[in-house]
Amino acid sequence: MTETDEVASRLLAWYDRHARILPWRLPPDPGRTGARADPYRVWLSEVMLQQTTVAVVRDRFIRFVGCWPGVADLAMAADAEVMAEWAGLGYYARARNLLACARAVMRDHGGEFPRTRAALLSLPGIGPYTAAAIAAIAFDAPETVVDGNVERVMARLHDIRTPLPSAKPALVAAAAGHVPRHRPGDHAQALMDLGATVCTPRAPACGLCPLAPCCLGRARGTAAGLPARVAREVRPLRLGHVYVGQRADGAHLLETRPARGLLGGMTGWPGSDWAEGMATPAPPAPGLWHPLNAEVRQVFTHFRLHLAVHVAHLPPDCAPLRGAFVPAAEFSAGALPGVMRKVWLLARQWFAGEPG
Ligand code: SF4
Repeated sequence: MTETDEVASRLLAWYDRHARILPWRLPPDPGRTGARADPYRVWLSEVMLQQTTVAVVRDRFIRFVGCWPGVADLAMAADAEVMAEWAGLGYYARARNLLACARAVMRDHGGEFPRTRAALLSLPGIGPYTAAAIAAIAFDAPETVVDGNVERVMARLHDIRTPLPSAKPALVAAAAGHVPRHRPGDHAQALMDLGATVCTPRAPACGLCPLAPCCLGRARGTAAGLPARVAREVRPLRLGHVYVGQRADGAHLLETRPARGLLGGMTGWPGSDWAEGMATPAPPAPGLWHPLNAEVRQVFTHFRLHLAVHVAHLPPDCAPLRGAFVPAAEFSAGALPGVMRKVWLLARQWFAGEPG
């Protein structure tokens, strides 16, 4: 683009007044002081934000960097501690990649994140979007950073009516056309902020938008319906069983899930595989198991899961067939992945003597 691109100029002027204050960011840099955000914090926030909202990530990010303030600290962390801290943020493969990436930065790059998109792409778990975001935000490189917010703004601004995902190349090209040579990192964050706070999915606040005079979608009345999407297929349903066993001393029977696959390496209640139909599998320990009436439901990216929950008081001398007892003092429901925590919330009502 040229230095006089009206969209970029309007956007930067708006960002200087309305930038969101986020714990991984520095304020806008209109004076070109050269101060840039810490690439470790940018990287971490982008990985967290791929899975959940800013509102959730804000506190989790602060806690995470409280535990591991820099990439060297994270590289030396115990895997299990990081996985436990990640609990509830979903997509646990990303937590494993986080560790692998921190260790690669220490081993192969002397503890400094590389500065270019291409070099960032060579790190574990960093894809094209994250590489572009780090290069732009932390190193002020003129990269085109396109997340869902930016796709929406571009579809509306240019009235691109082709449905997603086919529209992606056109949306990226549109976004690339506005990347300025001056302050590209702030421009990238400004677009994200505009999409998150003004050009929102259901009701774009065009009256507050700095791009309103240039926006084709607004002028033609198409904005609210963009970006168009092809109808999403219904996710298939998978079924499974889980067993929540508690000993009289309060210890819980838990197991570490296999390293590969969904929730790999995380702690969970023993149970069955998740499949489209299945018989009740053998319990993980001898005992009087009681099926609860309610079930736990969770939606994953590629399927919906309904879990039948079985509970039991287990004897003091119980010898489990799988898993191991975790003493009550070491048990933390918050360290379980989200679906397993839901199981616990249901099961503990039964242990507390409420009907299940
Ligand atoms: Fe979005 Fe409205 Fe701004 Fe266009 S004018 S970019 S539709 S908020």
